[in-house]
Amino acid sequence: MSRLSNKVCLITGAAQGIGLATAETFAREGATVVVADLKPEAVDAAVRRCQALGAQAEGHALDVTERAQVDGVVAKVLSRHGRIDVLVNNAGITQDARLQKMTIEQFDRVIDVNLRGVFHCAQAVADAMVRQGHGVILNASSVVGLYGNYGQTNYAASKFGVIGFTKTWARELGPKGIRVNAVAPGFIETPILATIPDKVLDEMRQRVPLHRLGRPEEIASVYAFLASDDASYVNGAVIEVSGGMSV
Ligand code: NAD
Repeated sequence: MSRLSNKVCLITGAAQGIGLATAETFAREGATVVVADLKPEAVDAAVRRCQALGAQAEGHALDVTERAQVDGVVAKVLSRHGRIDVLVNNAGITQDARLQKMTIEQFDRVIDVNLRGVFHCAQAVADAMVRQGHGVILNASSVVGLYGNYGQTNYAASKFGVIGFTKTWARELGPKGIRVNAVAPGFIETPILATIPDKVLDEMRQRVPLHRLGRPEEIASVYAFLASDDASYVNGAVIEVSGGMSV
């Protein structure tokens, strides 16, 4: 099945975790994959993995908080391919602390990457997508952006904010042929969970009716569906992919 054949797909934070799994899933679906992430070596490794799956792939070192870098990457992709069909705003970080302990620096950095970075990337591709008359923007929210979480004031605010972006852009860009949706993963086994104590992760497993954490590929497959024409009437949606942890 090649649901993303000939689609040029830019994925941020694609060097590891959910972003890397998304790049590989998109590669299997026939996409031209554009990997963007902080470290050039990790970007190159991700590109090679996509190419090994038979895909056209290229990489760019990118910090989504730096608007000039974002504009530069988007300009390069447009000059090489003439269009961007799909943007996956996946890059995200945590810097956890309880409200009374959280520093301004922790608050600002998470908001910068998870919220301002998403704004930068979406705004940078929007004109091209409007000119094309089509496009898909997918945003990484979280169950924490639906229900909040202890110790994650900054992260929860950013992931609630991403849902606000999604619904606003779905209204603004829908009439121009662009679909905008968000995915709200539950707890997925990636390096981002490294700072969460094992005891808390065990409690999470018990809370999920499937009694396990998710795998990155299980989020990637939802992104692939949303990026494809199979999701042609899905717009402004927030899809929770959490093994049912909220039921
Ligand atoms: P991860 O830490 O494994 O990977 C994140 C990637 O983003 C890394 O490769 C990192 O280098 C990159 N990145 C960080 N800051 C960046 C920046 N300024 N510019 C460009 N790239 C940057 O994380 P993950 O678990 O794969 O999470 C991916 C997304 O999914 C994040 O937005 C995260 O908030 C969200 N999410 C994850 C989970 C989970 O349980 N893993 C749950 C809900 C939502």
